Amino acid sequence: MKLSDLPSEFQEALPILEKIKAAGFEAYFVGGSVRDAILGRPIHDIDIATSSYPEETKSIFSKTIDVGIEHGTVLVLEGGHEYEITTFRTEEVYVDYRRPSAVHFVRSLEEDLKRRDFTVNALALDEQAQVIDLFGGLDDLARRQLRAVGKPSERFKEDALRIMRGFRFVANLNFEIDLQTSKAMRNHAHLLEKISVERSFVEFDKLLMGPSWQKGLNLMVDSGAHNFLPGLKGLDNEIFSFCQSLAKDYQFSQSEQAWAAFLHHLAIPNVKSFLKGWKTSGQFQKDVEKLVQILNLREKGCLTKQDCYRYGASFLRIAEELREGQGLVSDFEHIDHLDKSLVIHSKKDMVVSGKTLITELGMKPGPEIGQLLGKIEAAIVDGKLANDKDAIFRVIREGEGDE
Ligand code: ATP
Ligand code: MG
Repeated sequence: MKLSDLPSEFQEALPILEKIKAAGFEAYFVGGSVRDAILGRPIHDIDIATSSYPEETKSIFSKTIDVGIEHGTVLVLEGGHEYEITTFRTEEVYVDYRRPSAVHFVRSLEEDLKRRDFTVNALALDEQAQVIDLFGGLDDLARRQLRAVGKPSERFKEDALRIMRGFRFVANLNFEIDLQTSKAMRNHAHLLEKISVERSFVEFDKLLMGPSWQKGLNLMVDSGAHNFLPGLKGLDNEIFSFCQSLAKDYQFSQSEQAWAAFLHHLAIPNVKSFLKGWKTSGQFQKDVEKLVQILNLREKGCLTKQDCYRYGASFLRIAEELREGQGLVSDFEHIDHLDKSLVIHSKKDMVVSGKTLITELGMKPGPEIGQLLGKIEAAIVDGKLANDKDAIFRVIREGEGDE
C-alpha cells in the first residue's frame, strides 16, 4: 500500500530518510506515527528506524544528542524539529519481566518489526510513502483490531507491560482485541506484578486519558489485570461502576482529574498513599488529593469563598467538570463569582506579613504571630476585614486590648 497523501509531518522529515539512505543505510518511519497516519489521526512524535548504528547515524547529521545510545537512539535536530532515530534492534529474552536483558543492533528491518508489540504498531513507511507490512498490520487496522506480533503468550511473557499497552491502545483507538491476544492477556495478567510500577503507571494514565477509556478499563477488569496493579485488587465492581458513573463520551481534561475521579469513586481512604504505591510524584499526589477533597466538599453542598481561596478557582473548575460529566448539578458561574470576589488569592497578597508585625508593631517572634496572621488571612478572605494596613493594625490593637 502506498499512502496517497503523505502527512506534512512526514514530508518535513523526508530529508532525514534521504540523508541516511545517501550514506548507504536503510531508514523508515515506524511505530505509532505510521499507524496514526493510516488511520487519519493526528500525528505526534515521528520515530525513525535505521540500519545505521548509532555512531554511524551521528556521523551523518551535524546536530545530534545522545538520548539513549545504549538502546540505539540518537536525537537528531533538523529543520527546527527533533527526531528520534533508533537502530534496528532485537531484544533478548526478558529474564526479570521488566526490561530486556540485552539489546542487539541488527541490520534488518524485519528483525526490528518482529520485536514490536502489536501488528498495527509494527508497520514501517519508506521515503516513497510505501507501507511495509510484514505481519498483517494493515488488515488489522482495517478491522480495527489489536493483535500481538507473533505468538501472543510468548510476547506477553517477554514483556507483560504489553498487556497494559493493549488496554491503553483500546482506550486510545477504540479497537477490539483479537481473541488469541485477549486470551493470552488474561493468562499472563499475573506477570504485571513483576513490571515496574512506573511503567505500568504511564500506560494506565494513557488509558484513562484515551477517548474510549471506559472500554479499556472494562476489558482490563475482564482480564483480571487490575488484580496485579497497586491498590486495585478485587475492585472489579467498583471499577465497572466507575466506568458507568460518567457520560459515555466523557473525556478527562488532564490526568490529575482522571485519577481524582477514579479514586473518589473507589472511595480510596488515603489518596496520597495509594498514589505513592504507584510511585507518582509528590506534586501529582497533592494535586489529585486536592481534587478528591473538593469532590467530597461538593457532595456536601455549595463551595465557599474559603474553599475557593484554599484550592484555587482552577482546581474547583476541574472538579466541577467532573460533576457535569456525572450529570450532577454543576455551577461554574458560582466559582467565577467566588474567584472574582476574593480580595487576596494567597498569603503573598496580604499587605502585612510576620515581619511587618514584628518591625512595625513590635510583636515578639513566635508561634502566636503565625496564628494571628492566619486569623487575619481568614477574615480578609471572608470580607470581614479589609486588606489594609491601618485596618489590620487597628483590629490587632483592639484584640490586644481585649486580652
Ligand atoms: P503513541 O502514539 O501513544 O505514542 P506509540 O505506538 O507511538 O503510541 P510508544 O509507546 O511511543 O507507542 O512506542 C513506540 C513504538 O515502539 C510502538 O508503536 C511499538 O512499535 C514499539 N513499542 C513500544 N513499547 C513496546 C513494548 N513494550 N514492546 C514492544 N514494542 C514496543
Ligand atoms: Mg509514540
